[in-house]
Amino acid sequence: MIEIEEYKVIEEKKKKGMLVVVSAPSGTGKTTLCHMLVKEIERAVYSISVTSRVPRSKEVDGKDYFFVSEDEFKKMVTEKKLLEWAMVHDRYYGTLSELVNGNLKIGKYIILDIDVQGGLQIKKIYPDAVLIFVIPPSMEELERRITDRKQDSDTEIEKRLKNSYEEIKHSSDYDYLVINNELGEALKNIMSIITAEECRL
Ligand code: 5GP
Repeated sequence: MIEIEEYKVIEEKKKKGMLVVVSAPSGTGKTTLCHMLVKEIERAVYSISVTSRVPRSKEVDGKDYFFVSEDEFKKMVTEKKLLEWAMVHDRYYGTLSELVNGNLKIGKYIILDIDVQGGLQIKKIYPDAVLIFVIPPSMEELERRITDRKQDSDTEIEKRLKNSYEEIKHSSDYDYLVINNELGEALKNIMSIITAEECRL
């Protein structure tokens, strides 16, 4: 049988893992989208971050985040347990190295729901990482969504909206931009991006 190099390339790619970074301003539906991706893609895993933020009422430690104190977070930084970390809305957030590297080794697709500072750090370490930025259909819609979800105090909402403008400015450093007009449609677009990346030579 004739061996064709391209088939080997495709076979190798099928075994390789992928880092998919999804960033967006607060209230864009990013976390929901990330969880939908994990449901849709069999080999996908959600990267549970570490944070010094206080848990919201329905959040579960070890599922939504690993909630730690500021001191514990700083210790993890010193011990080099975090692949990337950043201060977001005045709190620390970071990605666990072990979680990412362990899953990459076994060919998983790791979905990272992190901010732009983190996304750009990941791209430096893993140039093959796929960076997707999700934006709301309009800034008015974003304000409405972030207020309606009733998760944060008025001061927190104000801070998050202000930071949104800054985050959106960095979206041009990302590989892809997806408008979240409707969740199903945004999910389909992200799935298409992942399929395109699987076929990339
Ligand atoms: P929230 O407090 O709403 O859960 O998250 C606030 C922001 O922190 C979001 O933009 C979220 O994507 C980001 N974030 C969550 N985990 C991480 C992480 O591990 N690293 C970085 N850099 N940002 C994160």
